[in-house]
Formats: sequence, C-alpha cells, structure tokens
Amino acid sequence: MFGKKKSRGDDGNLHPTLEGALSRVMDPELGKDLVTLGMAKAATLDGDVAKITIELTTPACPMKDRIRADVEAAVEQARPGTSVQIEWTAQVSRGRHGGGVGGASEPIPALDEVQNIVLVASGKGGVGKSTVAANLACALARTGSRVGLLDADIYGPSVPTMFSTEDKVGSPDGKTIVPIHWRGMKLMSMGFLVPPDKGLIWRGPMVHGAVLQFLRDVRWGCLDYLIVDLPPGTGDVQLTLAQSLKVTGAVIVSTPQLVALADVVRAKAMFDSVGIKVLGLIENMSWFECDNCEKRHHIFSKGGASDAAREFGIPVLGELPIESDLRQSGDLGLPLVEADPENRTSRLFVQIARTMAGWISVLNAEQAELEEKAGPSKAAKRRLPVVG
Ligand code: ADP
Repeated sequence: MFGKKKSRGDDGNLHPTLEGALSRVMDPELGKDLVTLGMAKAATLDGDVAKITIELTTPACPMKDRIRADVEAAVEQARPGTSVQIEWTAQVSRGRHGGGVGGASEPIPALDEVQNIVLVASGKGGVGKSTVAANLACALARTGSRVGLLDADIYGPSVPTMFSTEDKVGSPDGKTIVPIHWRGMKLMSMGFLVPPDKGLIWRGPMVHGAVLQFLRDVRWGCLDYLIVDLPPGTGDVQLTLAQSLKVTGAVIVSTPQLVALADVVRAKAMFDSVGIKVLGLIENMSWFECDNCEKRHHIFSKGGASDAAREFGIPVLGELPIESDLRQSGDLGLPLVEADPENRTSRLFVQIARTMAGWISVLNAEQAELEEKAGPSKAAKRRLPVVG
C-alpha cells in the first residue's frame, strides 16, 4: 500500500484545499507525502482555522516539529491567513524482519500485539547495556509509546534494582504471568521471582527456557516497543535467544575504546548470522565533564567505537557521557530519564529513542513495501505502517 493513495482521511474527511496543501508536505523520513501515506486523517476548515489530524508512525517521531512547520507553510500558501491546529495521533508500525530462524521459532501468541521487539546487546558486561536499555525504555514511554522491558539477563538481572517497586509478579490463573506495571510500562525480570541473595546456577538451555517462558507466558498485551535487555556477550545464550524470536532489530551498546571495536564487530556478526538488522550503536561513557570546567574529557578515548561502527555501516544512534547521576539514579531504583527528565543525559536518551523509533518506522515501511511487491497474500498478513 505504501506508495499509492490509500486514504482520504477516516471519513473521506479532507477539505479539498487542505488536501492539496497536505499532498505537498513530505514525511522527511518516509519520503512520500502525507496524503499518499495516509497520515492525513482529517482536515477541516472552521472559519479561518484549519483543523488537521495527522497520524504518525510513532509517537516518538523525531520529525514532528519539521512536519508541523511544513504543514503550516503549505496551508499558508494554499489559503493565506489560515491558522493551523494539528491533532497528533500515532499508529506504530509493526516490524518482524529478522531472527526466528532457530527451532523454537513458532509464533508466540503473547507477542501478537507487540509491534516491535528490540534487542539491546553488548559484547561484554559493564559497558552500561542495562542502564541504556532501562533509560531507553523510559525515554520511549515518555514520548507516549507503550513500552515493555524484558530483562533477559537471568544470571545478573538489574531491572529490579533500577526500577524500585513493592509490587509482585502475579499469576492469577496459574498459567500466565502478569508483569510488573511501572509508571505505564510493563517490566519482567528473573529478579522479580528469585530473591537477590539466591544466585541461579543454571545451564544455558535452562536460561534459554526461562527467557522463552517470559516471552510466551507473560501478559505483554499491546505494546509499541518491547525492549529486551540481553545478557552481556555474544555466546550461545544470546545466539539461541536471537534465533528464537522474530525481532525488528538490535541495538549494540559499547564504550569508546578501540578494544571495544572487536565486541561491536562480534555482536554485528552474531546478528548478521541470524538475519537480525542492527539498528545502531549507542556509545556509552563517551566523555566526562567535571563540575569545574565545561571541557569534555575523553577518558576512554574519543569516538573509537562510533568511528568503527560507521566503518562497518552501523548507524550511530547516539553517544552518552559518564554521568554520576545516571549511575546513582539506577542504584536508587529510578532511572535518570524518570528521576530527572530535564537532565542533559536524560534529554540525550530521549533524542536517541526518537532517532531509533524514526529509523524503525522507516525500516518497517521499507519492509511493508517489499512485502507488497512480493505478493498480496504475504502483505496481507502484516499490518501496514500507516493504517488508512
Ligand atoms: P551492563 O549491563 O553492560 O553490565 P550496567 O548498565 O549494569 O552495565 O552498568 C554498569 C555500571 O556502570 C552501573 O553501576 C551503572 O550505573 C554504571 N553506568 C552505566 N552507564 C554509565 C554512565 N554513562 N555514566 C556513569 N555510570 C554508568
């Protein structure tokens, strides 16, 4: 459907002059105009006020301000003196591009209403993968997206530490698991089931089984993004997990040292081997700014991992500083993005979340177009990026 006119608003409710104006406004990322994409859901004139409803492919759309400015300019050109009121809605597109090539790739009904699964990985522990996954999830939620976070690190779960809660995971029917509901997000972690002083001595297949159970049996419900915080490393456990799931893509977290490059390359190779798209790299602990000077100190070298990622064709989603507030908020059970949304690192997380969500929309649209070309039966099975 992508690429041909499929919507004139929900009720054919586009005023002709405004439709003309909107058909000249391009979505900067999807490269087509708002009418063709079906994003212009309604456009009516009330005196000299144009009331326009635009449906985005993600509430975290990084291009919202630009689209607003372009719509205002187009309406002004078509009907000078008209003011514009925009109502924004969002229908997150579905992505299931990669993975799921292993034996356990049968569909998981509990994930039916999960639009996008995003894996967060790192070549080794201690680079801030869980901190990034937690804050990224919070940042997406702050944009209005419906978000779940699955802590797949069975041996070293960190979600219960980072998200302080008195709530308990429940199973009223003895079959399905109700995740922790935390400020609108859904959280699941082995740490909610096993007390922190009881370490797990499990073999790989048991770990894999536990994570699959979290995916199959947890009532995830409707989510725009399910963030899966993978265990650190690129070994068997990670590979088996990646193979078991149909996912939208993976994000690699790394520190900037050149030695980290090998980890990024390994992680990329692992995802390539199971056909999972690497959405991008997040370089963590990239610099430090002390209180006494504004200079950025590049403690772990400058941009090593980012430069390498670019060389390997991996988009860089963003870079984050060493920030004691980030560590402290994680230790205190309230991720920084929630504890202090105005903190500059929190704002960087929101920016990264928007970049990632925008990129996912583009990939999903491209995928939808490919499936459309591949044939109607295949295409009918998936949701379109923008429902007309
Ligand atoms: P991983 O999941 O890669 O093992 P964690 O997210 O658990 O890493 O982070 C390891 C430690 O580093 C934690 O104490 C965390 O608070 C801290 N940390 C992570 N990122 C940063 C950062 N950008 N600035 C300061 N501390 C950080």
